[in-house]
Amino acid sequence: MTRIECNESELFQFANLFCDSEMDLKKIEKAVSDVLEAIGEDTKREGLQKTPDRVARAYREMLDGYRTDPVKLVNKALFTVEYDDMVIVRDIEFFSMCEHHMLPFLGRAHVAYIPNDRVIGLSKIPRIVDMFSRRLQVQERMTRQIADFLNILLKPRGVAVVVEAVHMCAMIRGVKKHDARMTTSSMLGAFRNREATRMEFLDNISRGARPLEF
Ligand SMILES: [Zn+2]
Repeated sequence: MTRIECNESELFQFANLFCDSEMDLKKIEKAVSDVLEAIGEDTKREGLQKTPDRVARAYREMLDGYRTDPVKLVNKALFTVEYDDMVIVRDIEFFSMCEHHMLPFLGRAHVAYIPNDRVIGLSKIPRIVDMFSRRLQVQERMTRQIADFLNILLKPRGVAVVVEAVHMCAMIRGVKKHDARMTTSSMLGAFRNREATRMEFLDNISRGARPLEF
């Protein structure tokens, strides 16, 4: 099981991790078993016998963002280059869990930055999105955390993050809005200060965009 030893570096601070603790799978199993009983289910029936174990493992996987080592994650993927045009990674699929109902919300993230001598390997950006999405979250905070982390990591001229998601808690309960999708954004540096820069990014991510469908 994953245990993370955090040090005092800025990266760890901005990664907001659960340090030096493991997820307690046995405790989750017990709790799931209690929920089944509380519903009125027969926890011994065949289909449910392994359910607490399966749910605990699913949680471990879905919530592993609390214990992702950010230093290992970016290891050897930072490069110094003379390039100062916008870098855009769009349509990054992600999965998260709303902290109010512990139900999934999922969608796409679009990330851009304008380098200031330093760039990151492209494959690392989706992994940074995973680190913040695979937790109990609210979409607004997740969006902001991704932007802040990239800002600290790359010290760029600007960072922009746009997240579009559908929320199961709004689709299947409460108001039951089946097209309940939400867009959030976080703009830092040049993306906040310069409208032309912001528009260039927003134009790019809307070009040929498919609507979210689930
Ligand atoms: Zn919710």
